[in-house]
Amino acid sequence: MKEAKRLQKLPPYLFARIEKKIQEKKAQGVDIISLGIGDPDRPTPEHVIDKLVEQAHNPENHGYPSSVGMLEYREAVADWYKKRFDVELDPKEEIVSLIGSKEGIGHISFCYVDPGDINLVPDPGYPVYGIGTLLAGGEPYYLPLKEENGFLPDLAAVPGDVADKAKILFINYPNNPTGALADLDFYNKVVAFAKKHDLIICHDAAYSEIAFDGYEPPSFLQAEGAKDVGIEFNSLSKPYNMTGWRIGWAAGNKEVVEALGRIKSNLDSGAFQAIQHAAIAGLSGSQDPVKEMQKVYQERRDAAIDGLNKMGWTMDKPQATFYVWAPVPKKYNSSEFAELVLEKAGVIITPGIGYGENGEGYFRIALTVEKNRIEEALQRMQEAIGKVEF
Ligand SMILES: *Cc1c(COP(=O)(O)O)cnc(C)c1O
Repeated sequence: MKEAKRLQKLPPYLFARIEKKIQEKKAQGVDIISLGIGDPDRPTPEHVIDKLVEQAHNPENHGYPSSVGMLEYREAVADWYKKRFDVELDPKEEIVSLIGSKEGIGHISFCYVDPGDINLVPDPGYPVYGIGTLLAGGEPYYLPLKEENGFLPDLAAVPGDVADKAKILFINYPNNPTGALADLDFYNKVVAFAKKHDLIICHDAAYSEIAFDGYEPPSFLQAEGAKDVGIEFNSLSKPYNMTGWRIGWAAGNKEVVEALGRIKSNLDSGAFQAIQHAAIAGLSGSQDPVKEMQKVYQERRDAAIDGLNKMGWTMDKPQATFYVWAPVPKKYNSSEFAELVLEKAGVIITPGIGYGENGEGYFRIALTVEKNRIEEALQRMQEAIGKVEF
């Protein structure tokens, strides 16, 4: 069966080789510690689960939902934005529900990209920005995220004709995989860039609530004029440990929200209403579980950074996301180093190259296992590899 070009064009799965190694190790009975997966290990808060159970019994929720989301859900998102960021949103026109933010990130290019069009895509980055672009027939133009720029894209370095031709600029802060932060000043520059080149900003704010040491990441929508040029994606996945529930939203520019809703009404029929009710419980209930979760990740982060620094790294503690993005020691590329750590220490880390060419030279640790397992992983790495040099 001959696959469509759009499917053939997708990049090969870079972690396939590592996955094969993991299976081999597991078959040998090796105790593998996986720091590879960005999926919260802790349970969804109890009151959210209770709400799902209650609402799953209500026959009113058993039919097709509205593809753009229940108004009550969109109101809960608007209230949350008001409380958290002091941003006003019209729940009727400026918010659309999503089956997880990945769904919206994947579909947005279908709204704006014709074959041959360009999207500006961060590298390293969450793969869906580029994949969605390719599936729509577009071409990703990669913006390198460099350490010396604080892993922010250098917008001034984008050639003028490319920026003029581009349809969408994807950004993501706090950033996966680098853990980098963006402030309002950066978002203001992004708005100016979008206005100058007439492009749409899609900000992925998946880690807005995963922050430490009292730091509170801003929303892109707080920037002056942000709603004129773009939308922000977010979801309940990371703050409420709900990755499996598939519930999120896009908020901001009316036209973009409407276009995304139109695509969705033609492709899917929205999120199960009982899940939307549960999401309302998460967004409008006590935020104590979020604070507790932040404390847990902060302790794990400290364990990871202290462990790495003992081996010769000189890392600062990232203030957001549940990732540590660390340079690969001298003499290895990221894939070689990940294989070495798996082979010698039974620890899975992800090679930076898996997030784009500019991820080469780095690896990512996910803080999604218990602190004692992180400590053990670093202990094993120290015993197996010893001091590292750069
Ligand atoms: C986890 C994650 C998402 C969220 O995905 P959902 O589909 O909402 O579960 C989006 N963007 C990034 C960068 C992520 O890491």
